[in-house]
Amino acid sequence: MIIVDKKKCTGCGLCEKACPFGAITIVEKIAVIGDKCTLCGACVDQCNVGAITIQRKKIEEIDFSKYQDVWVVAEIKDGKVRNVSFELLGKARELADIIYQRACVLLLGDNVKRFSQEFSKRGAYKIYVAEHEALRDYHTETYSSVITGIISKYNPNIVLYPATINGRDLAPRVAATLELGLTADCTGLSIRDGLLLQTRPAFGGNIMADIICPATRPQMATVRPNVMEMAPIQAGNNAEIIEVPVNVDLQGLKVKTKEVIRGNAFECGIPVCEADTIVSGGRGVGNKENFKLIEDLANVLNAAVGASRAAVDLGWIPKSQQVGQSGNTVSPKIYIACGISGTIQHLVGMKSSDIIIAINKDPEAAIFNVANYGIVGDLCEVIPILTKALKEKLKND
Ligand SMILES: Cc1cc2nc3c(=O)[nH]c(=O)nc-3n(C[C@H](O)[C@H](O)[C@H](O)COP(=O)(O)OP(=O)(O)OC[C@H]3O[C@@H](n4cnc5c(N)ncnc54)[C@H](O)[C@@H]3O)c2cc1C
Repeated sequence: MIIVDKKKCTGCGLCEKACPFGAITIVEKIAVIGDKCTLCGACVDQCNVGAITIQRKKIEEIDFSKYQDVWVVAEIKDGKVRNVSFELLGKARELADIIYQRACVLLLGDNVKRFSQEFSKRGAYKIYVAEHEALRDYHTETYSSVITGIISKYNPNIVLYPATINGRDLAPRVAATLELGLTADCTGLSIRDGLLLQTRPAFGGNIMADIICPATRPQMATVRPNVMEMAPIQAGNNAEIIEVPVNVDLQGLKVKTKEVIRGNAFECGIPVCEADTIVSGGRGVGNKENFKLIEDLANVLNAAVGASRAAVDLGWIPKSQQVGQSGNTVSPKIYIACGISGTIQHLVGMKSSDIIIAINKDPEAAIFNVANYGIVGDLCEVIPILTKALKEKLKND
């Protein structure tokens, strides 16, 4: 908390000039600190009458031995466990082995106990199941309050969340409530000196940052889908199932889901990281209108529309669909790269796709080095032929 001592403040304005975030204004000769303040302390250093102070919470001495096990917050969507949950379990098992702890899963929802077996057979040691009708659809308020209570009760050492739309919403709320650190969107996790080493791209993907949270527990991270290997089957494993009672005041809920409406793939942006097939366009698509060709092919194949960063930067497609180092990591069954040259920053995001098909007019394009099938030609000619042929083929099947 930042405090201005009104008796000491002379309204000199030095703090206003020093603030890198423009958070301070002088009103009636008193410094007023607005909500842009990040508690960086630049104003405190500048104030030569000692009128500004920051009160920081002292980190209590925590008994770290109380915090045990590596937890995965599983995600269920459309009545199925999302693969990213199994990917996180794979990583959790690896991390838990290193620190001699156990990999556990937290399953939240309505009627979700039935999914326990899928985690048990992939090596979970314990599965915490929290069921309630209020947890049928994801809501920040209910999910975060239930998870916060469970974490406080069972004291996990590490908690991993999928960096999906829901996970990215949920984890910060839990972290803020419990006053914990959180590293978002990790692409790598390991253990260093007993601590969770969380790796994520920073500064637009120009550097990879290694982050630790030494002072608080649990250590928490969200992890991108399709980055980790799914937990392998562990024959004969029999996880202990712990049913956690959940109390939710249904009348007090601020938000209720009435209906879930799905739209067209491109308009509502089917998340590329969830798709089995992706048709991606790059700068070679030429202009925004030509992206219709990519969309048409994607619609025939029931695929997501992806893009290179060049296409995103040109404003042809939303950033949410970008594939690559500073976008999404994907590993679909089929990835069709159209007018994409195949720079390393793009390849790191899609090279684990099962089948890669490239369409490019340059036979020397690097994308052909990773492609299983390549078509050398102008995409404006090739894609319509392909779309038409596939449409007819699928109609006749
Ligand atoms: C820190 C950092 C992070 C980055 N992150 C990402 C990222 O996440 N994702 C990403 O994609 N990039 C990323 N980039 C950018 C990356 O380096 C490339 O600039 C980008 O991938 C190039 O996109 P492109 O292949 O669409 O365009 P280009 O490299 O310009 O390639 C266009 C291709 O289209 C072909 N072509 C042209 N016309 C046609 C036609 N009519 N028919 C068929 N083919 C045609 C050309 O032969 C060429 O191969 C990042 C860069 C940096 C520095």
